[in-house]
Amino acid sequence: MPDKNKPDKISRRRFIDAGIAGSMFLGTSAPILSALAVQGCQPATGVTFGACYHDCPDTCSWKVTTEAGKVTGFEAVTDHPYTRGKLCGKMDKFPWDVTYHPDRILYPLKRTGEKGEGKFEPVNWDQALTEISDRLKVILAKEGPAAVLPYSYAGTEGVVHMNCISGRFFARLGASRLDRHICGDTAVTGVSGVIGMGTPMVPEDIQHSRYIILWGTNTINTNQHLWPFVEEARSNGARLVVIDPLKTGTAAKSDWHLRPVPGTDAALALGMMHIIIREDLYDREYVENYTVGFGKLKEHVLKFPPEKVAEITGLDPEEIVVLAREYAATRPSCIRTMIGMEHHANGASTFRAIAGLPGLTGAWRHQGGGMLNLTFSLFGEALNYEDYDITSKIEDPSIRSFNMVQIGKALTQPDLIPPIRALIVYNSNPAVIAPNQNLVKKGLAREDLLTVVLEHFMTDTARYADYIFPATTQLEHWDLQTSWGQTYISLNQPAIAPMGEAKSNAEFFRLLSAELGLVEDYLYESDLNIIRKFLKSSHPYMKDISFSKLKKNGWAKLNLPDPYVPYAQGNFPTSSGKCEFYSESLAAAGISGLPDYLPILSPQQDQSEENSRFPLFLISPKSAAYFLNSSHANQERHLAVEKEPFLDINPVDAEKREIRDGDMVKVSNKSGRVMLRVRVTENIRSGVVSIPHGWWPSRMEGGSSANALTPDGLTDQGGGSNFHDARVEVERIII
Ligand code: SF4
Repeated sequence: MPDKNKPDKISRRRFIDAGIAGSMFLGTSAPILSALAVQGCQPATGVTFGACYHDCPDTCSWKVTTEAGKVTGFEAVTDHPYTRGKLCGKMDKFPWDVTYHPDRILYPLKRTGEKGEGKFEPVNWDQALTEISDRLKVILAKEGPAAVLPYSYAGTEGVVHMNCISGRFFARLGASRLDRHICGDTAVTGVSGVIGMGTPMVPEDIQHSRYIILWGTNTINTNQHLWPFVEEARSNGARLVVIDPLKTGTAAKSDWHLRPVPGTDAALALGMMHIIIREDLYDREYVENYTVGFGKLKEHVLKFPPEKVAEITGLDPEEIVVLAREYAATRPSCIRTMIGMEHHANGASTFRAIAGLPGLTGAWRHQGGGMLNLTFSLFGEALNYEDYDITSKIEDPSIRSFNMVQIGKALTQPDLIPPIRALIVYNSNPAVIAPNQNLVKKGLAREDLLTVVLEHFMTDTARYADYIFPATTQLEHWDLQTSWGQTYISLNQPAIAPMGEAKSNAEFFRLLSAELGLVEDYLYESDLNIIRKFLKSSHPYMKDISFSKLKKNGWAKLNLPDPYVPYAQGNFPTSSGKCEFYSESLAAAGISGLPDYLPILSPQQDQSEENSRFPLFLISPKSAAYFLNSSHANQERHLAVEKEPFLDINPVDAEKREIRDGDMVKVSNKSGRVMLRVRVTENIRSGVVSIPHGWWPSRMEGGSSANALTPDGLTDQGGGSNFHDARVEVERIII
């Protein structure tokens, strides 16, 4: 768990939530603020550097060429050692796909039709801000600030426009708080229960591995700049194992693909430990010196012999034994995890069980050994979060909070006092990405709810807005990008002036603050001041990194020790300083002291009448290579590649239902139904079906997408969503 005595560590939530301290423009009026917001724009002709803003581990750097104030060239920076001159297919034509797209919203809009209908008329900024401010003042006076709720996530991950001025604004108001746990916190919580809240490995070092397990991650699709390093390792003799219920593009390229039943990975990890200990394959010296709780673990994993684990996971007992032996015998060995596997009710337990494996084999001793997880804690140590994070200093923790996963419930809860009367959405598209989609849409359709959306396009959420404000794109504003998947810091410079009347997220909240008469300095800090202050750090990782150098080059690598092998001799950021197979602090908190497998009953095991009606597990992975969550799912070029969403179903399950490849089907459960075409394929194991994440309901037959079927339950720890615990039935339809 996070060590509260070490303020230089940040959690994933703090990474998302952080606000920024400081002051520049005391009492500045709205028009002046507007003019100042574009200060520092680049010359109309020239080259500027920037970086991708997406919620993606790769954080690519790019170079923009402009002539007469228009973008004429856009390409990846070629000398970046990690992203190596390549942008992905989602983003390689970004200026034309997004910034210059003819459908882009460039002026404020006010609703004229029914909520959800998508009918709006233009309105000017001043009028729209005044009307919103007037309505907010009434809500604040009658029901108090808790009746206001922000909804945002990582639609842009820049430290300025993700949630700095906005975070401060809502904290200053005393609005209801949003628990931003939809992604990553469950995994981080699970891992930190064993090895603490640090960055155990850097991604490039996977090239030194000789045994690589990509566990629950489709690297080629969602982490593509890591793949060349995996290939380098393989060319030097590394064996690549993929553990994934789906035969993804990455699995297809592996040396060995194991396909456990979704949600059973913890049992597999504990089964591996059983073999490693039983056959004396563990690193005795590492275990003795740098771990705690081995005795308890040894006894505990006796409960996970291969035969039992095989029953749980659907794997062959021999596969489990061979995997454990190979993993323990090969050095350096690396386990790469990402996020998708956390989306089960037992998500944190799963990550906790997996995180124990490298401690057992002493994989941490070697460069290229251990567990490759997330890197954001390095930036938490390196950068000036102390001055940056004013939101958590001014936020009142006693004010109620809502988990963003359960936004549908929050908006429709009949006995909520006060009810949520105003929702301000930025950097997110809850009508698509949140589970229990029909409930979310019901909440958004409330006539008494003031909904304000900051956006580039008319998304499915924006269609429910009372007011839509045009947001700038990454080519039109300053920002600073840290990363959760690599170790480079990148400065994003505006290449062109904002199009139409677009304004940045930070600028919107400055203007709204002024309109509401708020006077605190920290609400009016400029983007550049935020960036400069954030970079002002004497931490050794920031040696020789400055604003001017970033402006010249676009990116800089954190100055990490070389080689970066932080746990070669223990020194884990846990309360014991060791790898904790047994955690006293978790046990004291009423959580199991040992990593465990918490069963999610498969539909076949669950005999309840309700579940017998929905006998298939549904997972909704990020398998659409040209979408990033819901972004780009409205763009012709991306849709042309993705074509249409398919339900993937195993031939055994299809035959039972007399479904043939290409049939239209209805996928349903008690939360909703989705209609789409079927792909009968061996790429998915029997008992499981899959619908890709990210498609907009408004663009699908029947008006629903995968999240109409997903539950809005929470994970065991970390507050994430159990998206992948959905159960459904599938039937052929004729339309
Ligand atoms: S989405 Fe990811 S891979 Fe694609 S350009 Fe952005 S950071 Fe790079």
